[in-house]
Amino acid sequence: MFECQTSGRWPIPALLARLAVQANRVLFPVRFLILASSSAGNSAYISDGVTHLLVDCGLSRKETFARLEANGIDPCCIDAILITHEHCDHVSGLGPIAKKLAKPVYLTSATANALEEGKEAMYFKPFQAGTKLSIGSFEVQSFSLPHDAEDPVGYTFSSNGRKVGVCTDLGYMPDSIRYHLQDCDILLLESNHDLEMLKVGPYPWSLKQRVMSRRGHLSNDVVSQFILDDLSPRTRKLVLGHLSEQNNLPALAHMVAAQAIDRRGLTNIDLSVSEPRQQSSFFEI
Ligand SMILES: [Zn+2]
Ligand SMILES: [Zn+2]
Repeated sequence: MFECQTSGRWPIPALLARLAVQANRVLFPVRFLILASSSAGNSAYISDGVTHLLVDCGLSRKETFARLEANGIDPCCIDAILITHEHCDHVSGLGPIAKKLAKPVYLTSATANALEEGKEAMYFKPFQAGTKLSIGSFEVQSFSLPHDAEDPVGYTFSSNGRKVGVCTDLGYMPDSIRYHLQDCDILLLESNHDLEMLKVGPYPWSLKQRVMSRRGHLSNDVVSQFILDDLSPRTRKLVLGHLSEQNNLPALAHMVAAQAIDRRGLTNIDLSVSEPRQQSSFFEI
C-alpha cells in the first residue's frame, strides 16, 4: 500500500502544495498602491498579477493615469473599478476614467442612484452592500460603513490566501467591520483627525460635529483602541490614511498608532502613513 513519505512535520504532497503557494506568492505578489488618500482625493490600485483593480476615482483622469504610469502600470490593464461612496473626494474623476477604460464599475445601488447620471452609468454593476463579488482572480467582500453617504462600503480583497482591506470614511468601528478586517495582511485604515486639533481647529462647529459623529470620520484615538483590541496579528502592513490636512499631522497619527502597537506587543508589522495628496510606494504581500 502506498504511504506518503514524510519530511519533518509535513507529508510530501502537503509540503509540495505549500511550496507551490509560497512560489506563487513570490512570483505573483499582491501589490497595493495608494494613489492618494485624503479629502482632497482618494484612489488606490490593487493587483495580484492577474487581475488589476482601481478602488475609487477621486483624482482626475489625467492625474490618475499619470500616477499609475509613474509606477509602471498601464491604465489600460485595469479590469474593473470599485467605488466606496458618492462623496466627490472618491468619485470626482469617475466619469472620464470609466469612459476611457470602458470597464465594469462596481458600486452599491444607492451609490449609483446618488451619482449624477452620465455616460459612465452604462458600465455600472450595482450590488447590495455586504455582497461578496468575484472579480477576475479576486474575491471581493463589501461591507457597510457608518458614514454620511447614501450606502457607503469598505472592501476586502482576497487572492490566493492573501487579503487586503480598504476601510476609510467611517464614524466608528462596529463589530461587523472588526469582523471583516480580521486576517488582513495589508490594511488601509482611516486615521482622520486628532480630536483636540479638530476641536480648536478652523472648521465651523457644524462641520466639527459632523466629523466627530458616528457617521463622520475615525480619530487617531479610535484607531489606537482598534489596534489594542482587534488588529489581527496577521496584519503585516498597516497604512493610516484619509488624514485631515487641517486636523491631523502625519507624525502625530503615526505616533499614536505606534504606541498602541508597542503596548499590544506586536513586532512583525510595518506601520506607515499615507500623506494627504501623495502617492505611496507599493505594499506587497
Ligand atoms: Zn472621503
Ligand atoms: Zn466620505
